[in-house]
Amino acid sequence: MPTDTQPAWVIPPPPSVTVPIKASPQRFPIHRVYCVGRNYAAHAVEMGHDPDREPPFFFQKNPDNVLAGSDLVFPYPGASTDVHHEIELVVALARGGMDIPVAQALDCVWGYAVGLDMTRRDLQGEAKRQGRPWEVGKAFEYSAPCSPLAAAAEIGHPTQGRVWLTVNGQPRQAGDLAQMIWKVPEIIAYLSRLFTLRPGDLIMTGTPAGVGPVQRGDVLLGGIDGVGQVRVTVS
Ligand code: MN
Repeated sequence: MPTDTQPAWVIPPPPSVTVPIKASPQRFPIHRVYCVGRNYAAHAVEMGHDPDREPPFFFQKNPDNVLAGSDLVFPYPGASTDVHHEIELVVALARGGMDIPVAQALDCVWGYAVGLDMTRRDLQGEAKRQGRPWEVGKAFEYSAPCSPLAAAAEIGHPTQGRVWLTVNGQPRQAGDLAQMIWKVPEIIAYLSRLFTLRPGDLIMTGTPAGVGPVQRGDVLLGGIDGVGQVRVTVS
């Protein structure tokens, strides 16, 4: 019988999606996944845009698009023949709010991870041309591989450090966190004027130059100095 504390679901409630914590049995539950576009000048240029400091813009992935762990298998998605890797610093929030001042933004951060904003570039390109939303290009199944989280209490708040990705051992992407156009506290402050941020939110902070296509069988190894690494096999 249903009670106040035990609702009677008409279907089973979806499981919560979580990210493992480095060297810990605990896990981080995901609320939302925000992503920043064009946050490294060299990547903005390679995508045909102006590298000037325009206001940041955002899109979202679905929480259950996250594939979390240190050694992952990414199934090549349907409906695309041009799936790209984008290596990114991921910020995990322990606290949220609205209109968060830049000076207090880092107080919201639980920790950091290494993520991949996998992108169906052909579908994203068509959406851009047609002035349509980006979801079909960005928010598909398994589109957000993510390493285990490192606690800010242990690693601090990284503002510099190499961001890199190899494919089958060959260098593909290379940059440095210091090249981010909008820094982590500014991103949190800006997002909090657009959305109510919540504990459990992840923010993917943009990718450096060198994005490119993946093929079935490729092994992607990505890392951020001081944060961690993630290995992704495309199946
Ligand atoms: Mn991205």
